[in-house]
Amino acid sequence: MVTASSPISDIVRLKEITKIGLKKLDLNTVMDLIYYFPFRYSDSSLFTSIINLKDGDDATIRGTIQNISNKKSWKTKVNMSEAIVEDVSGSIRVIWFHQPYLAKMLKLGKVVELTGKVTDHQGKLTLVNPSMQNERVMPIDNHDSLFAKDDGAKLTPIYPETKGISSEWFRHTISKALSMIGNIEDHIPEEVLRKYSLPHLKNALIWIHGPKNKKDMEIARKRFAFDEIFSINVARQKERHEIRENHAYAIDTSTVDVESFKSRFGFPLTTSQEDSVGHILKDLEKNSPMSRLLEGDVGSGKTAVAAIATYATVMNRPSVKGKKQTFGNLQVAYMAPTEILATQHFESFCELFEGTGLSIALLTGGGARKYPSKVASKTKSWTEISKPQLKKWIASGEIPIVIGTHALIQKSLEFKHLALAIIDEQHRFGLNQRKGLAKKDAHFPHLLSMTATPIPRTLALTIYGDLDLSILDQMPAGRKETKTEIVSIDKREEVYKKIEKELKEGRQAYVICARIDATPDEGEIQKLQVVSVIQEAERLDRDIFPHRNIGILHSKMTKKEKEMIMQDFANHEIDILVATSVVEVGVNIPNATSIIIEGAERFGLAQLHQLRGRVRRSTHQSYCYLFADSKSDKTRERMKLFTQAKNGFELAEYDLQMRGGGELTGAKQWGISDVGMDALKNMKLVEVARQSAIEIIKNDPTLSKNPLLKEKAEKIKNMHFE
Ligand code: ADP
Ligand code: MG
Repeated sequence: MVTASSPISDIVRLKEITKIGLKKLDLNTVMDLIYYFPFRYSDSSLFTSIINLKDGDDATIRGTIQNISNKKSWKTKVNMSEAIVEDVSGSIRVIWFHQPYLAKMLKLGKVVELTGKVTDHQGKLTLVNPSMQNERVMPIDNHDSLFAKDDGAKLTPIYPETKGISSEWFRHTISKALSMIGNIEDHIPEEVLRKYSLPHLKNALIWIHGPKNKKDMEIARKRFAFDEIFSINVARQKERHEIRENHAYAIDTSTVDVESFKSRFGFPLTTSQEDSVGHILKDLEKNSPMSRLLEGDVGSGKTAVAAIATYATVMNRPSVKGKKQTFGNLQVAYMAPTEILATQHFESFCELFEGTGLSIALLTGGGARKYPSKVASKTKSWTEISKPQLKKWIASGEIPIVIGTHALIQKSLEFKHLALAIIDEQHRFGLNQRKGLAKKDAHFPHLLSMTATPIPRTLALTIYGDLDLSILDQMPAGRKETKTEIVSIDKREEVYKKIEKELKEGRQAYVICARIDATPDEGEIQKLQVVSVIQEAERLDRDIFPHRNIGILHSKMTKKEKEMIMQDFANHEIDILVATSVVEVGVNIPNATSIIIEGAERFGLAQLHQLRGRVRRSTHQSYCYLFADSKSDKTRERMKLFTQAKNGFELAEYDLQMRGGGELTGAKQWGISDVGMDALKNMKLVEVARQSAIEIIKNDPTLSKNPLLKEKAEKIKNMHFE
């Protein structure tokens, strides 16, 4: 019998090439297959006449192949198939790069349906790397019905295809699978389905893969959109409940002079910093663990908030078996994603806590340090010590503040009285990791997670459903806005001159490129036109800044290499850092004041904002230059918005609403599908899904009454978010 977990080969005989394709798409079981959704439906009313195509359009055309040629580009040695496709209104050039197998499918006179982006390629409107659906030629007497717009028109699902697997194959195989596997039990409880008039799983699957009409298709998509958001919420609420069951140190903040600690900063806190501190101190008072996310734009001052939470915590005495000790301190672990950031935090904490008598440790892969040093010197207030020695002091509770990288969650590290874990730029830090940190201690640490990644509210509510949110939406006073400019290609030289002027004054600069290298990957033609890190660094070094030190940084380098480059940049041994968007997160080089972003139209707005955030980290005026190919209205509008938006959240919302053409860069990194992303545009749906999840967990915290939902939640919990 065929079940959801049967291999796909149980339904149809698989050709070798199909097997390879399925593997590439990571489709193994019948279940994988029936959850492989169409990304759109072909409906004849959706075709654009070729004559109406414009640069920048995402369009579907239907026409006949007139001319085909296969060649290798002489410059890049890339395989290229070129065709002319014609409909009654006109013709257009179509180019596929790097898909030699397509050449075999392109036959003169064949009718094809092509979906893709129209670009101006070498002065000619061109459809570049469109996806293709084979289309049967309709008999002439059916011609009218082909263009009829009646709602009963049959929608043909179109799937993301790969070599050896066409939409046709998916349609055929999936419909066979659905007819063979019998009933599929639904993980969404009956009463929830009924309350929101959602179809059962099996029906929804049938409708999404083979809708009789538009209404079926829409209701099926709605169900899966709800399903995804609801299931993630259930997983998060369940985890939240489990964490709440644990016992945390109740921290008596009233006995701590937080106000005089604040005066150490040398600046007044912003109102939103004050508010966040308020939320956190209130949470820390409770004996159930805090789970709070502090979300704030780059430079909004999250570290100061973290420092106050740290101070309030370590100024408390541990209690053992309910009795407060008269000695010792509660402990704080402060974890950063890189050695550079951990070291930065350590150094600023050493300054901030000077004279408090509190010890601070730094523990990274690279080594261990302790503050204060017994042998105080003028140059540094800390000493290098051996890791085993440091671990002993942490285990005995002698060192209350421990800053580090992932080294903090290794098995061999134990705290005596860990009360608070602070995690910088790493938001999913679940039950198990917290348990791991706490280990033998009967107490479970409070958690303060911090992120500068601006995301839309609906997405935050969903993926951080287990966390309470505090938002820093104000910038410290006196911070100069980054001067942002959209630069047309012919103004490059002027920008380089401006940058040289900054460099002369002792500043540094970033140049961001979308790609690492110039070899194009399969199917991504635009990349050919996009400046790559390696080539651009060579060019700048040779032609523009021969007297400057130029470094490169990208994701294919090892961790060690990356850290070395960052160290060199921090020490000003590098003037210009040419990098991919790897510099997006957390990097703090206040002396860098200019950033060029090549191919800016290719980045999501929120991501551009993150990149720009690299240069607004000091009192120097900073500059952001967007080199954008801004021929299309849409690009111009987006770029204009970018220069005007108040903060990253606004831009993230805009990214979400405008998504299509991959505007929400990295959307997949959140582990949410296209259907789920659609749902996130709908605040009401998200609220409803969240409320339903909260109710389920309230009535059935362990999900013992909903075993299928439990299974689903476990899967989501183990899924890698971010
Ligand atoms: P992020 O939120 O990106 O982690 P940081 O905590 O690194 O930001 O703070 C950025 C800079 O702003 C630091 O130099 C910090 O000292 C400074 N800063 C933080 N809060 C304020 C404030 N309220 N007023 C003035 N400067 C502040
Ligand atoms: Mg920070």
